[in-house]
Amino acid sequence: MTDRLRQSADQPCAILRQLPEGFLDCPADRLIQLLPGPTLFDLPGKDPRPLFISTLLHGNEDSGLNAIQTVLKQQLSRGLNRSLLLFIGNVRAAAQQRRTLPDQLDYNRIWPGTKIIDHPLIDMARSIYDYAACRRPMASIDIHNNTGFNPPYGCVPKLEPHFIALARMFSSYIVHFERPFGTHTAAFSALCPAVTVECGKAGKESATQQAVRLIQSCLDLKAFDDEIRAPDQIDLLRTYAIVKPPRDVSISFDGQRADFIFRKDIDQLNFKEIQAGEFFGYVKNGLHKLEILPGDGLDSAPGEYFDYINGKIFLNKAAIPAMLTCDPEAVKLDCLCYLMHRINLDGVRIYS
Ligand SMILES: [Zn+2]
Repeated sequence: MTDRLRQSADQPCAILRQLPEGFLDCPADRLIQLLPGPTLFDLPGKDPRPLFISTLLHGNEDSGLNAIQTVLKQQLSRGLNRSLLLFIGNVRAAAQQRRTLPDQLDYNRIWPGTKIIDHPLIDMARSIYDYAACRRPMASIDIHNNTGFNPPYGCVPKLEPHFIALARMFSSYIVHFERPFGTHTAAFSALCPAVTVECGKAGKESATQQAVRLIQSCLDLKAFDDEIRAPDQIDLLRTYAIVKPPRDVSISFDGQRADFIFRKDIDQLNFKEIQAGEFFGYVKNGLHKLEILPGDGLDSAPGEYFDYINGKIFLNKAAIPAMLTCDPEAVKLDCLCYLMHRINLDGVRIYS
């Protein structure tokens, strides 16, 4: 390995007991000037059982950083009501406003439970997990953004009442997930109620204020056990199918010629209960079909979700989409969308 490569590689995680000067006003893409790499802050509060906050696991998703900066600006001078473990993840990708750099692992696939073995980042994640485990956190919140227009929603790996209650403090939309493996929230669910919160698109329209309120509420809660009950008013959902265009086809959202031309407002369908017959876009010459892959934790093929009639694409059964985006690059990296259905608190699909 050359010196240059060594310098650009991810640093091991630092553990700091104080915020560096300028941290509370530092934008995500300049954090690297203050922090050498991934950093865990261990900040004391009146109640020693900490809240764990994780953010910037994806470098271009800055709502979590903005939210925690807002809370700390308000509360730090008078003292936190509860100790805080704050993990700031991929500062190197943040410096380039990228989710993950080409030479890196995805920081949200490296936590205990991951299928990846033998990598320094896996060891780093394990050491942070072990550090947190000794402190018995009262809750864990991992804060993200997504690329399309999505309402704020929480993702929980367990359907236990405290997990649902924690997620409900952020949004009434709650998605139960089992995969991918190696996420921060799945790992921390062995220690405490844990949720991943998705604050919509990064930037002005994001749901940063909801994240601020969630953090404030958790810092101020005396006992999570007694004061919160699982509420009735929730939309509990699970992904049953993942929709991808075939590899090597062209796609567009602005009407430009392509193999698939999706409607330009397609991301407005996210989290709406849409019915059979909803128009998604056009496919050239009827040559291609969208790939439908099994959803979360399912092994069997979910069956066909679309009809193709005279070059037009229509949904053929009711479903609730998520993660629809109008960014062709995001579709290529991930998928066109997830298709979800409602489930009950036992995890069983509700047919309407
Ligand atoms: Zn993310």
